[in-house]
Amino acid sequence: MNKDQKMDLSKFPRVSLAHLPTPLELMPRLSEHLNGPDIYVKRDDCTGLATGGNKTRKLEFSLGEALRLGADTIITVGAVQSNHVRQTAAAACKLGLSCEVLLEHRVDQPSETYTSSGNIFLDRIFGANLREYPGGTDFDVAMAEVADEVRAAGGTPYLVPGGASNTVGALGYVDCGIELLNQFAEQNLSVDHIVTATGSAGTHAGLAVGLRASGSDLPILGIGVNAPQDVQEERVYKLAKETAELVGAPGCVARDDIIADCNYIGPGYGEPTESMNEAVLMLARQEGLLFDPVYSGKALAGMIDYVRQRRFTKGQTIVFLHTGGSAGLFAYADSLTL
Ligand SMILES: *Cc1c(COP(=O)(O)O)cnc(C)c1O
Repeated sequence: MNKDQKMDLSKFPRVSLAHLPTPLELMPRLSEHLNGPDIYVKRDDCTGLATGGNKTRKLEFSLGEALRLGADTIITVGAVQSNHVRQTAAAACKLGLSCEVLLEHRVDQPSETYTSSGNIFLDRIFGANLREYPGGTDFDVAMAEVADEVRAAGGTPYLVPGGASNTVGALGYVDCGIELLNQFAEQNLSVDHIVTATGSAGTHAGLAVGLRASGSDLPILGIGVNAPQDVQEERVYKLAKETAELVGAPGCVARDDIIADCNYIGPGYGEPTESMNEAVLMLARQEGLLFDPVYSGKALAGMIDYVRQRRFTKGQTIVFLHTGGSAGLFAYADSLTL
């Protein structure tokens, strides 16, 4: 794609689920508190669907395709406290679709609150049909089995992968990349770095494609929440490469352009860390903002550490993508230190 050409996503089926554009705001008290760069927050916690979050943008494209294919039942998968599952369950309700959910037990010795409050509580409110599986289940097989069951009952299933992180879902973050560039222009901002949590990879991959295919070389730092660095970077790169092809900008993202720092995971996915705990309280008390323990809180812990290590410095402008997840906080009521 020519750099001056605007990317056109209008050929992809899409449903409207999110309040867009989400705000891009300075966090003045946090910036002063850390005595480093100007830190802005991109409020994708305000996408508006069922307490918001990043999956809503992706689902606009995933469920757009589901409707085009005539589906009446959405099947998806996630952890017990999955924000993706909660947003999918809500979107299915809004579109009049049934929702079959495969929930994976990924956290060791979860508390009673973890298995009943937060996202799983909301999944139940939305009436999703929840099926629980042990950690490490082969979900390609399990999802295919549920799809067979739906078909046998006369339904038409549509499978949304974990985190809606395939090329179709990633289009939501290609769109967000374009939205950000427009906001930088409107607000006259010269941004040095974008920071985001990176998990199932669609957010990071889509953003990279949205920016690069629009001619922006703005660096993106992903903070990993589950996999080691090489695994995470490969996962993001592979999806970015495929997504770039889908939008007609093949080769716009290079392998060494994908960076994931996976030093803030702690003992494992969804396991609390001290630095996450500190970050969640800091943002609440400096800015009145809520972040989550699994994704955005660990990504914040990474960003704060970069400022303290002077890897991000005074005079720079950093944009932190708030991917949402505050509903998950309630599930961690017993494990955060206040
Ligand atoms: C899913 C999720 C992420 C990670 O996004 P991916 O596209 O899966 O990498 C980050 N933050 C929150 C709150 C999420 O729910």
